[in-house]
Amino acid sequence: MGMDPFASCALTLPVRRDVPLRPRTTWRIGGPARWLVTPVDAVEIAGLLANWPDHLPRVILGGGSNLLISDKGVPGAVMDLTQAMNRIYTITESLNADSETLVHADAGATTQALAHFARRRGLTGAEFLAGIPGSVGGALRMNAGAHGGEIRDLLVEADLVDPAGRLHVLPESALGMEYRHCGIDAAWIFTGARFRFRPDDPERVRERMRAFNARRRRSQPLAWPSAGSVFKNPPAGPKAWELLDRAGLRGLRVGDAQVSEMHCNFFINLGQATAIQMRELIDRARERVAEHAGILLEPEVQFVGWE
Ligand SMILES: Cc1cc2nc3c(=O)[nH]c(=O)nc-3n(C[C@H](O)[C@H](O)[C@H](O)COP(=O)(O)OP(=O)(O)OC[C@H]3O[C@@H](n4cnc5c(N)ncnc54)[C@H](O)[C@@H]3O)c2cc1C
Repeated sequence: MGMDPFASCALTLPVRRDVPLRPRTTWRIGGPARWLVTPVDAVEIAGLLANWPDHLPRVILGGGSNLLISDKGVPGAVMDLTQAMNRIYTITESLNADSETLVHADAGATTQALAHFARRRGLTGAEFLAGIPGSVGGALRMNAGAHGGEIRDLLVEADLVDPAGRLHVLPESALGMEYRHCGIDAAWIFTGARFRFRPDDPERVRERMRAFNARRRRSQPLAWPSAGSVFKNPPAGPKAWELLDRAGLRGLRVGDAQVSEMHCNFFINLGQATAIQMRELIDRARERVAEHAGILLEPEVQFVGWE
């Protein structure tokens, strides 16, 4: 595939080839993208999808904070919304202390930017997002959450493009959002969303964010490249980290991939970990927990470019 597969699409931004993805992931692992496209808006994405070359694999990249990209990378096209689709703005202001403010965020905006946008305007509800890396699109796809909150709690409606290139606006109730899961087909792309917030004193909002972030710093190995929690918590019973700990996995290493000593569900890159090493560590951990506790943990991280 030597020629630009999107040459006929009249894109606003150029298509780049052989782009390293490693620096675009929080794990600092993974090979290059054969093609990288950075669309500027939903209409451009719709045009791309309507004309998508047959058999060209497609991956949507957000902040790369929940991805294990293979060492060979992505043999197709990676679509990056974070470069040119990252606006956040208020749609309606609260008129009194009880009313809600509606905020729009593009899918490529960071969840941290959304949290701080809300804080600066004295809006509560997004404090839990301040410590979650990545983009709004990735958070919607994963129904990201922490400290008792999830992004679906704030979500009013989302803008999506389906694989045929049609635009949709769907209410939160139509998205099938559950714990770290969204029911929308993985081939659909989130391009933006509206969120609702209630007014609060900006200082109190800031204090809650600080407390959440302090709790994270105490319990998570934030100095090392990671993808956050590797496994989802089982629906009932012990948390994933407890199962990993009880199975004796704390500190286990495969090459430079290591189960964090500080938090067993964080697997860290000690420097030069490859995707193969990290994958082997994940598989081994999964097998050991299955043997030890009879529970098959489900990975939360998404595997990209492994087919
Ligand atoms: C230090 C650390 C702490 C973390 N803590 C938490 C936490 O507390 N809670 C939590 O839930 N997660 C946590 N995570 C995991 C991660 O940050 C979240 O899952 C985040 O929401 C992923 O967003 P992203 O933009 O980085 O997605 P990516 O990793 O880029 O992609 C994740 C998935 O979403 C898809 N995707 C991305 N954008 C779009 C889009 N626009 N449309 C459709 N699909 C899309 C991708 O194709 C992929 O399948 C943590 C990660 C790290 C590194």
